[in-house]
Amino acid sequence: MSKLKILVEGYARKSGDHYEATSNTTLIEDSWKKIIVDPGCNEGLLLSGLKKEGLRPEDIDMIFLTHYHPDHVLNVRLFPNIDVLDCDKIYREDREYSYKGCIPGTKIEVIATSGHANEHATPLVRTDDGVVAVAGDLWWWEDGRQKTDAKSLLSQKDPLATDKDALLKSRKRILQKADWIVPGHGKMFRPRNDRLT
Ligand SMILES: [Zn+2]
Repeated sequence: MSKLKILVEGYARKSGDHYEATSNTTLIEDSWKKIIVDPGCNEGLLLSGLKKEGLRPEDIDMIFLTHYHPDHVLNVRLFPNIDVLDCDKIYREDREYSYKGCIPGTKIEVIATSGHANEHATPLVRTDDGVVAVAGDLWWWEDGRQKTDAKSLLSQKDPLATDKDALLKSRKRILQKADWIVPGHGKMFRPRNDRLT
């Protein structure tokens, strides 16, 4: 079984003349490897989240990106020389290696979940509490707007989606597989989806 912890709780909000957002950042420990999903873009929160776990950036083995939006990605700069993974590739400096199925060396399955972005992917993590989908922006909410009843989970609008039909398909697929969901921004939740299929 893997262990999973939210290092930074993602937010998204308007603030005066600008917008503020960073993604949820999740730490997974599997097969002696420490993997961060979506390092986000708030440097201070990420470093203090790591510190609380007794970790420094150099203790992390890999970074997995659910997709390439900057609010999920910019903190990659804090991890020089690290392997960065997306849906089906590992990037190591200027080299790209393909992989399929699970994150190499782990039992973490990766599901292609396009819709919010074409390259979007969702790791499924088997923990003692059930399967956790680290679902990136398949779901995200501005602060105070999170709604996780079955109907809202399928109908919630995503103004940034590149393909709304694909997004709906990806959401259904993940709801069928997951006991818990870590959204892109907002709190981890347990979907009540018995009647969705
Ligand atoms: Zn996004």
